[in-house]
Amino acid sequence: MRKLVLFDIDGTLITDHGAARHAFAAALAETYAYDGDLSRYDFSGRTDPQIAFMILRDAGWSDEDITSRLPELWSRYLRDLAANATPGRVQSLPGIRALLELLQQEPRVTLALLTGNIEPGARIKLGGASLNDYFPFGAFGSDSANREELPPIAVERASRIDGHRFRGRDVVIIGDSIYDVRCGTPHDATTIAVASGKTPADKLIAENPHHFFESAEDLEAMMRAIME
Ligand SMILES: [Mg+2]
Repeated sequence: MRKLVLFDIDGTLITDHGAARHAFAAALAETYAYDGDLSRYDFSGRTDPQIAFMILRDAGWSDEDITSRLPELWSRYLRDLAANATPGRVQSLPGIRALLELLQQEPRVTLALLTGNIEPGARIKLGGASLNDYFPFGAFGSDSANREELPPIAVERASRIDGHRFRGRDVVIIGDSIYDVRCGTPHDATTIAVASGKTPADKLIAENPHHFFESAEDLEAMMRAIME
């Protein structure tokens, strides 16, 4: 059976050692004169637009005023991210490169991204770890602010690119947050939670993913879970 394997980025494929958080803070300060404390927010699993709205609504901004300045926010964010998400600061997480090599050689697998990052931000981050070549397409936070809407977008793009319509459990979602698991459940996708990000193992297990791993390092078990 063929599989569409959808990877989250932050905490799953890579860590950027705070580069995106820094870029977000700088862009919020420049665009909305925001000077609050971002450390109280957990970005894990949220889309970039969700993060912006969550922070700015708390700071008293109306949705209308947030929306009107979003293009400015993203252009500043991307500029700062490109300057900071550099090779050396962005690192692939343990086991990931070996796992991607295996998956790329597996003819039954189509690899893609499912991430809350806006697409140009995703590409900058993955570029810092030289991982872009594994992922010709994906579904991004710039496609929808609601992560649950991203799996069908990835399925649609896959069908256009390789002519195969993936369904149900043949869509495999791999991520490090509770929202990675939750976005797969309504679509009957296979969910694989990996505790390589900020979310503790017990919180991930409580979401009942089909599979749970501490990291991507057990390649054989990961491949079994993906291909089952
Ligand atoms: Mg993540």
